Amino acid sequence: MQKTTRRDFIRKAGLLAATAMAVPSAVLDGKTTRARTAESLIPREDSHDAGKGRLTLEWKDFTGVMKHTFTISGSSRNSTPIVITRITWNGYTGYGEASMPPYLGESQASVHEFLKKVRDEILPRFDDPFRIQEIMEETDRLAANNTAAKASVDIALHDLTGRIMGQPWWKIWGFSPEKTPCTSFTIGYDDDDEVVREKTDEASWAKILKVKLGMGEEADKRMIRLIRSINRDTPICIDANQGWNDRYMALDMIGWLRENGVVMIEQPMSKYDLDSHAWLCERSPLPIIADESCQRLTDIRKLAGAFHGINIKLMKCTGMREAREMVTLAKALGMKLMIGCMTETSVAISAAAQLSPEMEWADLDGNILLANDCFDGMKLHDGKITLDDMPGLGVTPKGLLA
Ligand SMILES: [Mg+2]
Repeated sequence: MQKTTRRDFIRKAGLLAATAMAVPSAVLDGKTTRARTAESLIPREDSHDAGKGRLTLEWKDFTGVMKHTFTISGSSRNSTPIVITRITWNGYTGYGEASMPPYLGESQASVHEFLKKVRDEILPRFDDPFRIQEIMEETDRLAANNTAAKASVDIALHDLTGRIMGQPWWKIWGFSPEKTPCTSFTIGYDDDDEVVREKTDEASWAKILKVKLGMGEEADKRMIRLIRSINRDTPICIDANQGWNDRYMALDMIGWLRENGVVMIEQPMSKYDLDSHAWLCERSPLPIIADESCQRLTDIRKLAGAFHGINIKLMKCTGMREAREMVTLAKALGMKLMIGCMTETSVAISAAAQLSPEMEWADLDGNILLANDCFDGMKLHDGKITLDDMPGLGVTPKGLLA
């Protein structure tokens, strides 16, 4: 985003306030209730000096509405609570996001509480957004967990500093944009054959599919047979979401899946059962990737030997700073890399995409699964992630956030 004057910033914030008061929030959250103005992206009264080197953090709730009911081993849902953050400094603006699927244990309320502490206790001590390391270390120490809330601060700081430098983060990190992988497109588990057929058809553009299994041997084979009856050739990644309980059954399934064009298995068994994963890892003809077992940087070392690789997600690992460190450590340990996502808007997806040239696999379809994405950002070309020269994350708000 180009540099804006303080006057522009205040004028736009005023327009946003007026719009939020007058227009139903359908554009924002797909619901008919009116937009909330409390804790919105409107600067607080005492933020009048936002243009003088002060870091100002604001946020707004958003409900991500999914195009299809999303079922994984353990739960189903139609929407995801999200909080969009904005940090402003000297007329520059950076956007961030916290997305909270139920199993993360965070909510919009818990994110608000956490962000208030960041706003009131941490940011006033800094006047330089480039001190991301120190700001995020202090943010991390505020409370355990709250990883999505932490990520929403980290992502906004990266967007902000990238915009100030006038460069995208893939370039600042020195990555090669032509090395981006194709993103997989996720087909959730469904008992209804017609829904599975419909979703398989919808995924016909994708160069690689990701199928959610872990419901049991027969149910899982039924899904794959159904998908293969429509799509014979597209490589498939499997995410069992810890759903398989027996290592021998898991190994048999992996052999059968390989014969059906599957190329990788994500988190086949319980996140706590590293022994079974190590046993599988030694014998599996396909790479086994840790997702639930791998939350943060400090988890990686104990996973070497139990998994062939890790799935990095910004909402688990507190954002882009730690994700970049996880890339370095995993590569040093000879592990494969995957980048994944929750149901997220194009803000968090575009943030994750900055790391994608380093990845063997990418599962960055969270924004495509949304019916109401409130940002423009990373684009796919023929299924492949493309990275452009737009600074920061390369995102532009749309709808009420514009
Ligand atoms: Mg997974």
